[in-house]
Amino acid sequence: MRVLLVGGGGREHALALGLVRDPAVSALIAAPGNPGIASIAELRTVTPTDPAAVAALAVETSADLVVIGPEAPLVAGVADAVRAKGIAVFGPSGAAAQLEGSKAFAKDVMTAAGVPTARAYVCTDEESTARALDDFGAPYVVKDDGLAAGKGVVVTDDRSAALAHAAECGRVVVEEFLDGPEVSLFVVTDGQAALPLLPAQDFKRLGDGDTGPNTGGMGAYAPLAWTPPSLVDDVMRDVVHPTLAEMRRRGTPFAGLLYVGLAITAAGPRVIEFNARFGDPETQVVLALLETPLGGLLHAAATGTLAEHPPLRWRDGSAVTVVLASPGYPAAPQTGDVITGADRSGIIHAGTARRASDGALLSAGGRVLCGTATGPDLAAARDAAYALVDGVKLAGSQHRTDIAAAAIDDRITIPS
Ligand code: AMP
Repeated sequence: MRVLLVGGGGREHALALGLVRDPAVSALIAAPGNPGIASIAELRTVTPTDPAAVAALAVETSADLVVIGPEAPLVAGVADAVRAKGIAVFGPSGAAAQLEGSKAFAKDVMTAAGVPTARAYVCTDEESTARALDDFGAPYVVKDDGLAAGKGVVVTDDRSAALAHAAECGRVVVEEFLDGPEVSLFVVTDGQAALPLLPAQDFKRLGDGDTGPNTGGMGAYAPLAWTPPSLVDDVMRDVVHPTLAEMRRRGTPFAGLLYVGLAITAAGPRVIEFNARFGDPETQVVLALLETPLGGLLHAAATGTLAEHPPLRWRDGSAVTVVLASPGYPAAPQTGDVITGADRSGIIHAGTARRASDGALLSAGGRVLCGTATGPDLAAARDAAYALVDGVKLAGSQHRTDIAAAAIDDRITIPS
C-alpha cells in the first residue's frame, strides 16, 4: 500500500513513524513533511489546504491511501477532492469536519444527539456575551467559533478579559465551566463502525501546575490509570455513537478520526470539544503504544470496512511526550534558531526546518519538537522522555517540567 500523508507537524511525524512500522505500507510519501519525517519518507511540496493540488499529488504518486493530519485541509474539503479521484482517504469530508470547524455547529449536533456537554450560548455582540457570562458566572469560558489552532479559548475569572476576547473574535460560544480532569479519546470510524484508541491526557497550559496561556498542547501521557473503568464504553454509548448517527441523519457521515475532548465532572464525562483529526501531542503517546498496524487500520476506516477489522492490540506499559517550545510561544514564537542534540530516536519534529546553506536544524514554529518515550510504567516513560528533551539545545526554549507528574503521584481527583 502506497500512503500519502498530508501535513508537517509533530502529529504527522508520529503518524509517519506508525505507518512505516506497518509491513503493509510499501511506500510513504509526506507533503510537505518536516526534517524528522524526511528520514523515513519521501517528501513532496504541496499547499496542504489546496484540495486540487493534494488530489493531483495523490494521483501522481499513485497513492492507495491518503492520510490527512491537520484540521485546516479537512475543513477546506481536501478529503472530498481526493475521494472524487477514487482514492481512499482517511479524514472526514469538509461538511463533516465542521464538527471541528465551527464550535456552534458542534454544539448544535451535540444538542440534537443528546450528548452530555456544557450548556452554551452563541454570541455575536457585547450585550448577548455579557448576558451569557452573567448567566453562567465565573470562571468564564469564551471560545472563538472558528478554527484557532487550539488557542481560541479563554478560561478566566476576569469578566473584562472574557469580554475583550469575545470582542476580538466576533462570533463566540460562551459556555458553562466544566470542573474536572480532562481526557482525550480518539475514535477511528468509517462513519458507522467505531474503534476507540487508548484515552490520553494532554497539558494545554504553557506553565507548570496548569498556569499561563492556553497552547496547542505541551505534553501528554497514556494510558490513564485514574479514569473510571467504564469511561470508554460510556463515552462510546453516550457520545460517539449518537454523534455518528446524527451526522449520518444529516447526510454528512463523519469518517476519519473523531477526537472527543472530555472533562470528567462530578456528574460524569462531559464533552469539551470535538476535533476532526488526531490530537497533537496525544497522538505521539497513543501511537507509541499501538501494536496493531496503523496503515491497515486507517485504510479500513477509509474504505468503510472497519466492522471487519480485528480488535486493537496495545503494548504493555506507558508513554509520555514532552513538548519543547520556542521562546515567546504561544504569543510570539521566535524562530530561526539553531537546534542541536535532536538527532535521536524518540525526538519527534514539529516546527523544524533545515538551513539550506549547511543543513543545520532550525526552529521553525512555536512547538518545535517533542521527546517521546515508552517505559514499563509511567514514571519510567516520563524519565526517558525528559532525558530526550534535556539532551536538546535550543536557546531560550520552554518546556513544562510536570508532564504526567500528578498521575504518577496519584494526585488526580474527580470532583464528587
Ligand atoms: P478547546 O479548544 O475547546 O479544547 O478548549 C481548550 C481548553 O480550554 C480545553 O482543553 C480546556 O482546558 C479549556 N476549556 C474549554 N472549554 C471548557 C469548559 N467548558 N470548562 C472548562 N474548561 C474548558
